[in-house]
Amino acid sequence: MSEPLIKYTTEHTANFEALFKSLGASFMSGKTHSISWRREQLRAVERMMHERESELFEALHTDLGKSPMEAFTTETSYVSGDAAYCRKNMSRWSRRTRVSTPLVGQPGKSWIQAEPLGVVLIIGAWNYPIQLVLAGMNAAIAAGNCVVIKPSELAPASSALLAKWVPQYLDPDCIRVVEGGVPETSALLELPFDHILYTGSASVGRIVMAAAAKHLTPVTLELGGKSPCVVMPDANLETTAKRIAWGKFSNAGQICIAPDYLLTDADTEARLLPLLRQAVREMFGDDPQQSDSYCRIINDRHFERVSKLIDSGKLAFGGQSDAADRYIAPTVIVDVLPDSPVMQEEIFGPLLPIVRAQNLEDAIAHIRAREKPLAAYIFTNDKTAEHKFLSTVSSGNACVNDVMMFMAVHELPFGGVGQSGMGAYSGRKGFETFSHMKSVMKRAWWPDLEVRYAPFTGKKFKFLRKIR
Ligand code: NAD
Repeated sequence: MSEPLIKYTTEHTANFEALFKSLGASFMSGKTHSISWRREQLRAVERMMHERESELFEALHTDLGKSPMEAFTTETSYVSGDAAYCRKNMSRWSRRTRVSTPLVGQPGKSWIQAEPLGVVLIIGAWNYPIQLVLAGMNAAIAAGNCVVIKPSELAPASSALLAKWVPQYLDPDCIRVVEGGVPETSALLELPFDHILYTGSASVGRIVMAAAAKHLTPVTLELGGKSPCVVMPDANLETTAKRIAWGKFSNAGQICIAPDYLLTDADTEARLLPLLRQAVREMFGDDPQQSDSYCRIINDRHFERVSKLIDSGKLAFGGQSDAADRYIAPTVIVDVLPDSPVMQEEIFGPLLPIVRAQNLEDAIAHIRAREKPLAAYIFTNDKTAEHKFLSTVSSGNACVNDVMMFMAVHELPFGGVGQSGMGAYSGRKGFETFSHMKSVMKRAWWPDLEVRYAPFTGKKFKFLRKIR
């Protein structure tokens, strides 16, 4: 299932320096600065997603067992919609932003103007192997940069397809794909890129940041963590169950912003469980292994890792697995204690543990005692509870009465906080991530007040105090 396809344009480690230099020369030529070049590239991304759709669906099915519909909503149409959004808005984002100039600077004008950074590196993870590199690339193109993308080697079919098609749709003088794993990524990280966007685990995030520090290269780290989901007794439990089941079991739970675990009281748990079971049955039938809509675990290592967590409490339903097929059933585990194995690390698989919390305060205390998550969710009708949750729980992103849907809002920056990441992208924020927001001041020639020049007399000092 995960044997690599033929590699079409693999760049060799020894050539990375030459590749970097040639992209640097393209950048210095000013080609990527032109809005029409950027527009052309973004249109080409849209075209590529449309014309290569069936091949991309096939690759995503090979890598992750993704159904065409899931591949469409979370990968191809997401990427083309994002490219179109960047294309339509980048001129506006590129405009100067005027700011007021104080008296000491008068007559004069002040503004902020975006300038592209140069050559940027985008390293993606395997769970959304197309989206994670191409959405970052869209933002980098919109901001006028040259780009190297490095898709994850753990999704080899998708990586190979990007290596095949990106050079044919996009300008190869400015945009390149490098395939490979640790040796290739390590070699790339030796180079003085102007920005690195990394998506993946925190442990590799540290490696990326340490390598970037050598060149003072700024980084955006899109990491993960255990995203909590609080269900209050007053929530509409039927819709809550459907939304949670969708968020947890899509992509077989291999989603950085999936609700990692639930926090609720005993009575709500008892009412929610049959609804969760029903929601899973409606989505994937009685035997999810037979469902075309249900994904597989990416590889044997992750299969082993997730399988070991199943025994962390009492099975409410699910728990079946098949190593040969890398299948793990949608599983809900109850009677889970905070110190059980499933609560020690991000699950990144189709297991949903339910941890008891007496009330909202108890749930918030549980979350705040741990690392800041990438996302935090609450289901409630109570505005006071909602306000308390949003104002006391720190998380990269949050959703009230749903999960993950902030991803559908282009203008909401997406990123983590603390251990779940740093920096953000999406919409205007993505443009700004890949731009330097340069401060500019323009002075008139006259008048040129003598007061600022030495000698610093008492009279001048008095005058300065007055106008400050
Ligand atoms: P992965 O194994 O695909 O690794 C990510 C990238 O890091 C790959 O391109 C890989 O080649 C590179 N890499 C791996 N080891 C390296 C090393 N030693 N040196 C240099 N580069 C190396 O993905 P993963 O790390 O298993 O990703 C899963 C994690 O990513 C989860 O924690 C998940 O929450 C997080 N994630 C976050 C987001 C987000 O947007 N915040 C999205 C998806 C996944």
